[in-house]
Amino acid sequence: MRVAFLGLGIMGHAMARNLVKAGHSVAVWNRTPGKDVEGARAAATPAEAATDADVVWMCVSDTAAVEHVLFGENGVESALREGMIVVDSSTISPSATLAFAERVRARGADYVDAPVTGSKIGAQNAQLIFIVGGSEATMERIRPLFEAMGKTVLRMGDTGKGQAAKLAGNLMIAMIYEGFAEGLTLAAKLGVPAESLLGLVNASMIKSGVVEYKAPFVLKRDFSPNFPMRLMFKDMQLMLEAAREARVKLPGLKTVSEVYEVAIEEGHQDLDYAATLMLLEKWAGVEVSSAASGA
Ligand code: NAP
Repeated sequence: MRVAFLGLGIMGHAMARNLVKAGHSVAVWNRTPGKDVEGARAAATPAEAATDADVVWMCVSDTAAVEHVLFGENGVESALREGMIVVDSSTISPSATLAFAERVRARGADYVDAPVTGSKIGAQNAQLIFIVGGSEATMERIRPLFEAMGKTVLRMGDTGKGQAAKLAGNLMIAMIYEGFAEGLTLAAKLGVPAESLLGLVNASMIKSGVVEYKAPFVLKRDFSPNFPMRLMFKDMQLMLEAAREARVKLPGLKTVSEVYEVAIEEGHQDLDYAATLMLLEKWAGVEVSSAASGA
């Protein structure tokens, strides 16, 4: 298929590369030039990338970025044709997604929200999980593209439901990691080594995929970004906004979001969200990997 891939960040670059590897004809565009993908045609604007494409696939930071790529100057909108499909793998607002889809459909194209989970490693290894909102028929048409970039496609319902489910899932990831980080910090301060606590976690119902993924990085104190803190914080604001719109109270998330706010004030925004641990450590006067005996 002919695909325009827009947004070559941590996720998008790896996804576009996997589309090329699977033999698709790919045009790429990134806001900041110089992030090319071998085997893909580099386009100067989103509209130029989308010209002749069957499918336009986006993976950019946030709601404003998607709006800009679609409807801004030289945006995708001017290149939309009957039968085209626009797919958004960014994590953005479910209500904005509905508005974007309506505007895209007015030009005869279809719209699928397909945010992902699996992080940088999942994107690199074509092991992403796509969380999809949109028509079943359209989802089937782009299945070869999903298969080139991921291992699982889960349809959550019609337009916007992919984003809604993604936010609910990321809420759980943020809270589970916060629980892990707070548990590690308390254990360290009370004199339990991180490795011992992990032995307990993995032998019991405390075990979790989030901990399994993050623990090796935390033990090595490798906080380089797999999923940058600024993006998890952005997702938390989307969760809180969606909750306000739907009149849902999320008291735990509100508190965890305040931890992120301070961690970002401390300058950790471009580190992985796992680096929220560093703030807990600072408050406790302890370091998890090396100071099981306390400060
Ligand atoms: P990233 O590395 O920060 O890349 C962001 C991309 O968005 C870059 O290509 C950036 O372009 C572009 N962008 C930002 N603002 C823009 C604007 N106004 N107009 C056009 N392009 C703009 O982020 P990422 O980790 O790839 O994440 C991309 C999306 O996937 C986010 O919505 C994120 O929440 C979601 N996601 C990420 C992960 C993960 O583990 N990283 C996992 C699941 C979902 P420049 O190069 O010009 O800055």
